[in-house]
Amino acid sequence: MGKKDENKGKKYEDFNQWYNEIVEEAGLCDKRYPVKGMNIWTPYGWRLMQNIDRETRRLVNETGHQEVKFPLLVPQKEFEKEADHIAGFEDEVYWVTRAGRNELDIPLLLRPTSETAMYPVFDLWLRSHADLPLKIYQMVNVFRYETKQTKAFMRMREFHFFEAHTCHATEEGAEAQIEEDLEIMEELSKKICMPYLALVRTDWDKFPGAEYTVGADALMPTGRTLQMAGIHQYKTNFSKAYDITFEDEDGNHKNVHQTTYGMAERLVGAIVAIHGDDKGLVFPPEIAPIQVRIIPIIYGDEEKVLTYSEDIKKGLEKEGIDVDIDDSDERPGSKFYDAEMKGIPVRLDIGSDEVEEEKVTLVRRDTGEKRTVSKEDIVEEVESTFKKMQKDMYERAEEELENYIVEIEDLSEIDEEKIYRAGWCEEESCGKEIEDITGRDILGTPYEGKEFEGECINCGEKTDTLVYISKTH
Ligand SMILES: [Zn+2]
Repeated sequence: MGKKDENKGKKYEDFNQWYNEIVEEAGLCDKRYPVKGMNIWTPYGWRLMQNIDRETRRLVNETGHQEVKFPLLVPQKEFEKEADHIAGFEDEVYWVTRAGRNELDIPLLLRPTSETAMYPVFDLWLRSHADLPLKIYQMVNVFRYETKQTKAFMRMREFHFFEAHTCHATEEGAEAQIEEDLEIMEELSKKICMPYLALVRTDWDKFPGAEYTVGADALMPTGRTLQMAGIHQYKTNFSKAYDITFEDEDGNHKNVHQTTYGMAERLVGAIVAIHGDDKGLVFPPEIAPIQVRIIPIIYGDEEKVLTYSEDIKKGLEKEGIDVDIDDSDERPGSKFYDAEMKGIPVRLDIGSDEVEEEKVTLVRRDTGEKRTVSKEDIVEEVESTFKKMQKDMYERAEEELENYIVEIEDLSEIDEEKIYRAGWCEEESCGKEIEDITGRDILGTPYEGKEFEGECINCGEKTDTLVYISKTH
């Protein structure tokens, strides 16, 4: 890491070690399951994932998507219909070839993603233009035989996956869907306090079978980027391979235009990495599994402190806030430590003074800021603290992302773990040369477009295409 990052803490000095320890110590997952790349979702981690899913579900339901659940197993012949898709996934697929004592006539595979499970059925579902658009999604586990080193939430062989699949009568309809997906991503990013770059991938880095892919890249503490979501324009690539057609208003049979939007449990990994600190996790209040922890500090009158704490808990619960009480026999110091490690956004400390004066001590996890709040204002104060935290956490992450983006005019300026911005001629051979020279990836061009006039950073050709270059996780 560069000089700038000195004294920033363990997370920046040795990210991998910090990350690997923290996910276990905070109880987000259990890595002791005896299959490599497959972890156990613990109650605390699963609650976090469910909260993220709740927000995702709300956003996609609001935009007219419907939830489905397809079978896990896909027949080999369905999988093999779209050539680029097979080529992209064949090294990562798990096969089921036996059932009981018998070899299966048709081998089955565990879905690595569900295009090939869904698309043969889409043609049966779609008769006429009146059935379009079709907008469905599912939240399921998928399997990919990952050969690189696995990492909790970020690179797993079995992982939790959100996938939306849509069919449209026209290309414009599909393009509008991509716009809508990016709006959903934007809303979700506010909930998880995670700014990102929406970049159209290079042709050699797009999703297998896609016409183009928009990746949502977040900045990790290493200075590298992590793809959090992929939004894909398929045009008619899959609908031709799977013969998905509809009858238009004039009675003509046409292939549908398709898109997908995929996100995975990586979101959890990114939240841990971006917001965590040396004391542990820091969760944005709107998705935190436990939003408030009450810590009774008991020296004298135990009964009084506990009753008062229960009373406060009930008041918060009535407002729909997730709150618990740490009434263990641990010393206050270890209770604070545990609440910090778990990333609980707000702590309410209650001792006999607080009971006497009808107040609580409110502590914010992200800043450590402490203040006294009177009993009657607690709900209001907790809610306004949540709002402030959501905003501050987003803005801090956004500032960090902006600080890591560096404009360059020569490839020799690339000497740190940053996100570099430069002109590119759009020639694949030249792009791959840039990747070879720098040991980094071309992430892509801004989806929103970006005024640019200049030269390709490698060959000097005039260009109006701007790209982002970085190392990736
Ligand atoms: Zn060039």
